[in-house]
Amino acid sequence: MSDISRVGRRKFLVTAGVAATGSVLLKGCVGNPPSSNPPSASTGTPAPGPAAAGDAPEVTTVKLGYIPIVESAPLIIAQEKGFFAKYGMTGVEVSKQANWASARDNVTIGSAGGGIDGGQWQMPMPHLISEGIITNGKKVPMYVLAQLVTQGNGIAVAGMHEGKGLGLDLTGAPAAYIKGFSANQGRKFKAAHTFPNVNQDFWIRYWFSAGGVDPDKDIDLLAVPPAETVQGMRNGTMDAFSTGDPWPYRIVTDKIGFMAALTTQIWPFHPEEYLAIRADWVDANPKATKAVLKAIMEAQQWCDKPENRPELIQIVSGRNYFNIAPEILTAPFEGRYTMGDGKPAFNDINAGPLYWTDPKGSVSYPYKSHDLWFLTESLRWGFHKGQLKDFDTVKRLVDSVNREDLWREAAKEAGFSDIPNGTSRGVETFFDGVKFDPENPEAYLSSLKIKRV
Ligand code: CA
Repeated sequence: MSDISRVGRRKFLVTAGVAATGSVLLKGCVGNPPSSNPPSASTGTPAPGPAAAGDAPEVTTVKLGYIPIVESAPLIIAQEKGFFAKYGMTGVEVSKQANWASARDNVTIGSAGGGIDGGQWQMPMPHLISEGIITNGKKVPMYVLAQLVTQGNGIAVAGMHEGKGLGLDLTGAPAAYIKGFSANQGRKFKAAHTFPNVNQDFWIRYWFSAGGVDPDKDIDLLAVPPAETVQGMRNGTMDAFSTGDPWPYRIVTDKIGFMAALTTQIWPFHPEEYLAIRADWVDANPKATKAVLKAIMEAQQWCDKPENRPELIQIVSGRNYFNIAPEILTAPFEGRYTMGDGKPAFNDINAGPLYWTDPKGSVSYPYKSHDLWFLTESLRWGFHKGQLKDFDTVKRLVDSVNREDLWREAAKEAGFSDIPNGTSRGVETFFDGVKFDPENPEAYLSSLKIKRV
């Protein structure tokens, strides 16, 4: 209760007028195709400041990709609650992507070629796409514009491993169990994520290595589609899954396995997924970019308001979006996680996905210090060694891709509060006591025992 009011009270004064119209808009929205006639803001949302002549966006359309997981909620809510339209972006299309590889391919061709202009990304996909590193050498410069969400992810383990102590801290007997698995079972302990060298890969690598398990040597770790992973966890061919809501709920309630850890335990209020758009689109349409940003920021404020969560769940679970039973989303959006395997459950809204602010600062603002952590982790694991050579390369890349300046301008123009003072969130501390000081990422790297550098 106190947690709910903590998140809710301060930040939502800005959108108080919008909330009053929520239930009216909802009836007309759920089930509509995402790209057709976004609901008009004229039914009661406050008159926007930026609609004045000269401030109108250069274009009213943009195509933004999303993956049907809780990270995408701000994009969907900005569309369905009329925030894009409120800021003049009346023709936004939010486009469901089959998987991360499709999103990457679609942004590479752009909306002119039938793809997308930008959307939701794991990190550091925008940086890697900008450099042509994951696009067969084709450089498509992108800008990171906002963070969409924090938390909402975790490490699931197959039910056959219950009772072995596989939890947040693997040191000792659990690590020995995982490393000894191949001697006992004739195959290595096998773990999956959904796309290599980005968030979910980093979370599970951090977790394994903090516990003394080398993710490159002691286990098999590979990219596998979620449905195939879950099937593997059922039939005994897959042992762990670095995953995000709503999968953790399904894995536990369907008795496929248990949650070893939530990412909020590994790194409370960690950076998760981001909004990034092609640089050519942003450079050609700076006002439209800020209109998109204002709409997403307002959607994020709306998403964090506890009383809006039931409506949020109704909207995103709809047939045109996640297409799942709304009950599956209720628990995570209330911060309730049943862990399984004898672990205590979570019941704290601050343990679930948060969109606008959290107790450590802004969620929406894209801290450069967080881009730097993701790319430092890339260096740690020797990913893209030819192209990501050293910290000089990495810091240059952060400065060219991260456009926190546009976020700042948009937030100021819209009159939003909670604008951070600097580009760094400061020193970050992980569950194992390791610290990442953005002023000295080299010290973080050298403090880590398991690494490829
Ligand atoms: Ca995620």
